[in-house]
Amino acid sequence: MFEMTLEVQFALEATRQAALLTAQIEKELVHPALTKEDRSPVTVADYASQAVVAAALQRAFPHDRLVAEEESGLLRQAQSQDARQLVAQFVGRVEPSVQENSLWEWIERGNAPAEGRFWTLDPLDGTKGFLRGDQYAVALALVEQGSVQLGVLGCPKLDSRCQPQSEAQGALLVAKRGEGAWITSLHKPGAFRRLHVSAQTNIRQARLLRSFESSHTDVERIDAFVAHLAIQAEPLRLDSQAKYALLADGHGELLLRLLSPEKPHYREKIWDQAAGSLILEEAGGKITDLNGKALDFSRGRTLAENHGVLASNGVLHTQALAALKTVGAVPTD
Ligand code: AMP
Ligand code: MG
Repeated sequence: MFEMTLEVQFALEATRQAALLTAQIEKELVHPALTKEDRSPVTVADYASQAVVAAALQRAFPHDRLVAEEESGLLRQAQSQDARQLVAQFVGRVEPSVQENSLWEWIERGNAPAEGRFWTLDPLDGTKGFLRGDQYAVALALVEQGSVQLGVLGCPKLDSRCQPQSEAQGALLVAKRGEGAWITSLHKPGAFRRLHVSAQTNIRQARLLRSFESSHTDVERIDAFVAHLAIQAEPLRLDSQAKYALLADGHGELLLRLLSPEKPHYREKIWDQAAGSLILEEAGGKITDLNGKALDFSRGRTLAENHGVLASNGVLHTQALAALKTVGAVPTD
């Protein structure tokens, strides 16, 4: 087992509370979505989840930085009053002392600089999956001097065998650097089971995981990659870092995040990769960008020095990198 440090205790409990809350919001609301400038849907659940984790961090490690996805700006606007009340109502289930002011303060805590030792949070990874009734996750990681030391994923729509299921009990995954990747039930946490990637060595038998949203990737090049390697199974489309959970538990061998032709300069956000990448590595897998370069978490809020992501069971990594080059999926800038 891994050592249950104060950091691990905090990360497990805060992620679990936030993930259970997002699952309640999914069940109880007809998903009232606001609209962000970039048009991606931001829901009451994003804000409630971020507030709950920030409040718990405030208690556990009052001096630690939090680098999180959401800003409170939109929620502060007059037309967001209904959403504001809903956020406060849901956060109150976990933090009964919540006031409007504390809500802002908690959410705004997530604006800290990504330097030195910091926590990074995606309060609701896979917002589009959440709105569709598909996969989503709460992702929290501790980064120290550019290296992810601890990662936790709360996945309400996975069962404890990491299989997608709409009536699932949820999965809670944790990895500590050097101490393995582990899983337990989200609803009823008990013993932890150690995770191991698939031992598949034949790339034709590989199962490929990709984003559900075609606009987050390059579907044509994924098809070219699959054809080039004569991979037999259809790629599995899944939202959020739940993809890393499946890979870490041996339910897939390859994961591609190719750059969308519409957004060739897109850089990955650190909170979209930090927790999932450590869980995969600690389960025995490998993760790099499309050039084979290690992910560099020391560059602020994005992986500014990386292009896309290739994750694998390790054994198939070199072969997959070569195939990416052949099909022209490796950016040159
Ligand atoms: P996925 O569930 O694999 O579609 O990944 C979800 C994450 O993709 C979201 O949290 C977004 O931050 C991120 N995202 C948004 N736009 C893009 C894009 N053009 N390319 C790659 N990822 C994106
Ligand atoms: Mg995300």
